[in-house]
Amino acid sequence: MSILPPGDDATTPAAPPPRRHLPALDRLLRDPAAAALIERYGRPALATALRAELDRLRATPATALRPADTAAGAVLAQAGERLEAAARPSLRRVFNLTGTVLHTNLGRAALPEAAIAAVGIVAAGPSNLEYDLASGARGERDDHLEPLLCALTGAAAATVVNNNAAALLLVLNTLAARRQVVISRGELIEIGGAFRLPDIITRSGCRLVEVGTTNRTHPRDYAEALGPRTGAVLKVHTSNYAIEGFTAAVGEADLAQLCRVPHVPLVVDLGSGALLDPRRYGLPHEPTPMQAIAAGADLVTFSGDKLLGGPQAGLIVGRADLIARIRRNPLKRALRVDKLTIAALGAVLGLYRDPDRLAERLPAWRALRRPLAALHDQAARLAPALAARLAGLATVESGACVSQVGSGSLPTQGVASVALVIRPVGRRGAGAALRRLAERFRALPVPVIGRIHDGALLLDLRCLEDEAGFAAQLAALRDAPGAP
Ligand SMILES: *Cc1c(COP(=O)(O)O)cnc(C)c1O
Repeated sequence: MSILPPGDDATTPAAPPPRRHLPALDRLLRDPAAAALIERYGRPALATALRAELDRLRATPATALRPADTAAGAVLAQAGERLEAAARPSLRRVFNLTGTVLHTNLGRAALPEAAIAAVGIVAAGPSNLEYDLASGARGERDDHLEPLLCALTGAAAATVVNNNAAALLLVLNTLAARRQVVISRGELIEIGGAFRLPDIITRSGCRLVEVGTTNRTHPRDYAEALGPRTGAVLKVHTSNYAIEGFTAAVGEADLAQLCRVPHVPLVVDLGSGALLDPRRYGLPHEPTPMQAIAAGADLVTFSGDKLLGGPQAGLIVGRADLIARIRRNPLKRALRVDKLTIAALGAVLGLYRDPDRLAERLPAWRALRRPLAALHDQAARLAPALAARLAGLATVESGACVSQVGSGSLPTQGVASVALVIRPVGRRGAGAALRRLAERFRALPVPVIGRIHDGALLLDLRCLEDEAGFAAQLAALRDAPGAP
């Protein structure tokens, strides 16, 4: 509702708002302070921002404005802020201090330097993506990755698609469209988001045949289900949950044995999949594609951006005749990866040729292996500065916590870690104060994402490599929104 000065006729419907002494648009655009903004954002964008700012000032009640607010310099400064906010990319860097190392919502694996460089080269210009340099003829985009993948997994052939969900869709559609896919009830998992195994199987054009029970499935359960209408047997690594207690599952080797005589392909979805046994690096165990291949799996699928440490991709390795059929499926064309993914994945796979230095080069592995002592030292360096910045708002201390690998890998195995434990001062409205505190950290120039646990905001330091960058922006914490 507008507040009209005395004497105006309040019943006149569209009474013009009171005149303000606002600078004219063309004068603002000629102001010396406008030059830098025009240089940076262009004249049309500045004019639009200035118009929006002038409209805002016109709509603001006169009593809420100080004369300084309508000065040319102030209007230009406000327009500059609008332009800066609009120019900020939507997809931004953040600090992942959630304690989940491979966080799907925060982009999973960070790429090693070699992969970033490889992406830069093919992004900038033409490449031999589907061109055979030796013969000068058309090439295959899979050729860049297949030899490496075969060498690393012991498989005869390999191909790569957009992600592991796509890999599974493509494999099932190729092998078992209009036929049955046999799977244990204990493996009908939901991966998160909209990815549920039964839906994927159905959408692949296959009929789901569940065998066994949630906790126990035996070889005879599979044997009874196999028949002339079976297109594939699917074994899924239940990567994001664990069934404990009275359980039984049929291993890959036994399944391969069962599938041999009826000639039914055995497909293993490993989810994360690690190309080298993580135990060798002091990381918890995760099944590897080579184990599955060696046990007799016909095709194995796994993700590129989980424990493998590469870009988003779905890797399919296994029998050459089956991979050839997959390549002929028109869906393969729809699910193919682009050159940036191939460049990044090629570089990451290349690092696996030097296993001794791998754990230092893959950021996710580096983070998972950081010793507790290093995390304690980091907490001791950061806590005092942070406490000073939050004085009166919150207390800061260092405390033990548990990180996770994330992305469904190793769900029951936490990794001991250290966090900055931040508690709002005062007891009343603690939940709201905590949320405002978290909001403050998210509003920093490089947003900091922590996790709320037990009445405190935890900043798990396991993934904090850029300590200087983190410390440098703490000064902005006071001004950030979310002040109590
Ligand atoms: C993560 C996961 C998938 C999905 O992989 P994306 O690469 O995210 O598409 C499929 N199956 C299992 C068992 C998984 O853990």
